This record gives sequence, structure tokens and C-alpha cells, in this order.
Amino acid sequence: MSGWEKSSKAGEFKSSAGSPVSALVALGSNLTSEWGAPDETLLRAVERLGAISERLTVRAVSSIWRTFPVGGPASPSGQSVFANAVAAVETTLGPFELLETLQEIEREARRVRKVFWGPRTLDLDLILFGSEILMSPTLTLPHPRAVWRDFVLGPACEIVPDWRLPTTGLTLREHRRLLVENFANFESTAFWTQTVANGRR
Ligand code: AMP
Repeated sequence: MSGWEKSSKAGEFKSSAGSPVSALVALGSNLTSEWGAPDETLLRAVERLGAISERLTVRAVSSIWRTFPVGGPASPSGQSVFANAVAAVETTLGPFELLETLQEIEREARRVRKVFWGPRTLDLDLILFGSEILMSPTLTLPHPRAVWRDFVLGPACEIVPDWRLPTTGLTLREHRRLLVENFANFESTAFWTQTVANGRR
């Protein structure tokens, strides 16, 4: 297990042609798999992320956060609890190649569990790819829903709070503040998040 180190350098990599680019990947799991509970599934996914290509290096990983539906019934199987984390990577892959790589890891996870659990055991989203702005049928960058998700912004702010979104000019920290202020104005907030002391940070 190698990738679970915090590095304040992760946000410093710059996007430029031919050079390694830093990218931000969000990980989510809400079902126990043969890899283990959702936390273990995320750990394994990060491990795969670090091993799957020589052109991809994991630079920093957040702690694991758990997200609970407000007022939802406790699930004996734990299926209502989501485990979320964010990983900063450095890569010479292009954005589409990186997306394909993430989808390959998702398929690996699903292959293990599909008979029992269905397709949502592991979700990997590409949140940022350097300062790339893209809107294609298969890839949108920055990820369009990331700034609305505290389970992405919270973990991301642990490792790369000063990363600036090329679309808004705001940092992840600033986006999180906006989101939290926004949530405070709406009683129908669907989720709340909580840091889990998992001893792996
Ligand atoms: P989901 O299963 O909800 O994560 O959606 C996956 C689909 O979203 C795939 O078909 C991707 O091609 C597409 N997609 C578009 N932009 C992104 C992104 N930034 N990260 C991950 N998937 C994306």
C-alpha cells in the first residue's frame, strides 16, 4: 500500500504540452465488495491507480470521508453510507486516456462484484485535468458537478485547496466556502459529511 501520503506539492504541478500534468480524481463507493468494505475498496482503487500505468503517479490522497443521507434509515448492510476520497495524480496521459484508465479500474471493481451488487460499487470521476476546459460527449472538464458536492470539495481541500478552477477562477477552498454558505440557506440539504479518522492520512 503506497499511495496514502499527503503531499502539499500536489497542486503545484502545471499543465503544459508534453509535460506531466496534475489531475484530480474523485473516488466513491457505497457497497461492500470482495475487495472489502467501501473504505477498503477505495484503498484498492488508489492502489490500482498507482500501478496501472507507468505514465500515472499518485501524488496525494485525502482521508476517507463518509456521507450519510439525512434522515435515511440505517442500513444493516451499510449500503446507505458512502465512502469518498480524492486523489491528486501526475500523468503524461491525455485527459481521454486518463478517463479510459479510470473506467478500466471501475470495470475491474465491477467485475468482482457485479453478480451480487450491481454497477455502483466504485465511481471514479475526473474532476480536474491541469487547467484544461473541455466539453465533449464523453468528457467534461472541470467535472460539472464537482463544485456542488461537498464530498468532493471537502476531501479535495485537504490536499489541494489552492487549485484554481480554470472556468471560475476560484480555488477549491473558495468553492467549498461558497457551497457551505449556500447549503446554510437551504434546509433541504440532502447530505452532510463527516471526516473519518482512519489512521491512513
Ligand atoms: P457516472 O457513472 O455518473 O460517473 O458517469 C460516467 C459517464 O460520464 C461516462 O460516460 C463519462 O464519459 C462521462 N463523463 C463526462 N465527464 C466526465 C468526467 N469529468 N469524469 C468522469 N466521467 C465523465
